[in-house]
Amino acid sequence: MNHYDYIVVGSGIAGLYVALLAIKRGSVLILTKGSIDDCNTKYAQGGIAVAMGKDDSPELHYKDTIAAGDGLCDTEAVRILTEEAAECIADLITLGVPFDTLDGEITVAREAAHSVSRIIHAGGDATGERIEVTLSRQVRSTPIKVLEYCLVSDILLEDGRVKGVRALDWRTGSAEEYGCQFLILATGGDGRLFRYTTNSDVVTGDGIALAFEVGAEVSDMEFFQFHPTVFRLPGVAPFLISEAVRGEGGILRNVEGYRFMPDYTPEAELAPRDIVTRSIVAEMKKTHSDRVFLDVTHLPARLITTRFPHIYRFCRDHGLDATKGLIPVAPAAHYLMGGVRVNSWGETSIPGLFAAGETACTGVHGANRLASNSLLESVVFGKRVVQRTESLDKAGLASSFAVAGEAEQFHFLPDREMLPDVPPLNLPNLQALMSEKVGIIRSGEGLNEAASILATWRPSPDKGRGREGVLFSRPSPDKGQGWEGLPFPTPTDRASYELDKLVLCARLMTEAALLREESRGAHFRTDFPEPRPEWQRHMIFSRGRC
Ligand SMILES: Cc1cc2nc3c(=O)[nH]c(=O)nc-3n(C[C@H](O)[C@H](O)[C@H](O)COP(=O)(O)OP(=O)(O)OC[C@H]3O[C@@H](n4cnc5c(N)ncnc54)[C@H](O)[C@@H]3O)c2cc1C
Repeated sequence: MNHYDYIVVGSGIAGLYVALLAIKRGSVLILTKGSIDDCNTKYAQGGIAVAMGKDDSPELHYKDTIAAGDGLCDTEAVRILTEEAAECIADLITLGVPFDTLDGEITVAREAAHSVSRIIHAGGDATGERIEVTLSRQVRSTPIKVLEYCLVSDILLEDGRVKGVRALDWRTGSAEEYGCQFLILATGGDGRLFRYTTNSDVVTGDGIALAFEVGAEVSDMEFFQFHPTVFRLPGVAPFLISEAVRGEGGILRNVEGYRFMPDYTPEAELAPRDIVTRSIVAEMKKTHSDRVFLDVTHLPARLITTRFPHIYRFCRDHGLDATKGLIPVAPAAHYLMGGVRVNSWGETSIPGLFAAGETACTGVHGANRLASNSLLESVVFGKRVVQRTESLDKAGLASSFAVAGEAEQFHFLPDREMLPDVPPLNLPNLQALMSEKVGIIRSGEGLNEAASILATWRPSPDKGRGREGVLFSRPSPDKGQGWEGLPFPTPTDRASYELDKLVLCARLMTEAALLREESRGAHFRTDFPEPRPEWQRHMIFSRGRC
């Protein structure tokens, strides 16, 4: 077994940044499922939040983040995020990320729910792409070993500690084990759970499912953010129209041309994402339409073409001049606030196992992420992961992961009755179920129905082993076998592996949403439409130590 000091799974901003810091301390292997730049990071448009403007401060950024999180942010984590932000942005600049400047100063833009302008960006609305290209180029110039098209299928433990991973080159079908001292999951969220999504097709919740399967704690899975404004035309793949467009003055109109946001909230188009999203859903229902419109025709054409060149080009490629006509938009799945529960050093409840980026739940987003805080979270807490491994090296491998406090509730994934008659499990059926029953608007009845179907598709990991053979018997790579005795994953089997991980994430999301009998942040239930003080706590799922 080849051994590395660090194995990093994933090559978005979190994985690449961690790897670049870790290589200064030891050997590093990056395993990534697609090509190095297959990830969500490259799609990020708006930018990164950091208190840089003259009228801004980490304290103000802290307050805005806490307000958006709707009572569930971890205050210590938000302090760290906002106070360590500038140092990490300086690192990115040193690494060569070309943030946009004006007269030699980095420019800051406004986004919804930020009280001042504080979003730095690159290439106008190509921030994520510029970051991904810069960091992957840097990685290529170091001794970091990168294995592309390698899907990590299992985490290996020894005496309760991480020992390494099993990975498959899914193009050739060859499986290999790699050993490490520190394993960092940077596999992104689970946005492919839903039919309309802004997420890349590699974002299938793998890291969360892998960590849960070996006994790590998973938290806040019920909080999933839908982006309010995603380009919506039949036959056109969802394409995000950045929050920053509303930040610059874009307004929302229904299909009758009426500006509706002021009817829902005094903050109008600049309200937090969950409020804008639900207002749009209500307006679409009222007007019997599958879309509303974003109007930027009153803004200077030059602002649109220079500040949002990607968006402008995308619209033009679909026959629409955004400076003259209205942009059709609707909400789509976007960002997972929950994930693998980590402390402020990125440690999970399994010694040697870390998580960074969207896979991790650091607690900074609470029930609702403030726009442009996720790229920032990836670098701030990614840096802390590497800092922590330094002290662990000196002090031995003891984890400082704390047991849950009073404000947290533990759950095991419950057993449910198998339903005799469920639709066959495939990605479209899973996405339809999640979009209809566990999407923007939820209810106890719909969640219950979804939970039973999901449990029939994928019984609890420790239960119904006999039944698991139906679809998801654990693969045994030693025997060169995959699911249901198939030869080990080929490209088609990559899809069935991903489906397995998605269903587990769907179960965690649905059971958490069902337990949370209130509405808070991105989680909205028609049967409990208000926040309830007794629910000002986190929910943690674990299957116990393996
Ligand atoms: C359209 C869009 C716009 C956005 N705009 C912004 C913005 O302006 N500002 C902001 O802060 N945030 C934004 N976000 C959110 C932000 O981009 C993401 O949260 C962030 O990029 C996540 O980075 P990451 O490194 O954690 O994961 P990702 O960038 O998603 O990378 C995940 C990596 O893990 C790999 N992987 C997954 N499973 C496996 C496996 N089993 N084995 C091996 N590799 C695996 C993938 O191949 C990929 O390389 C946006 C998101 C989207 C989708």
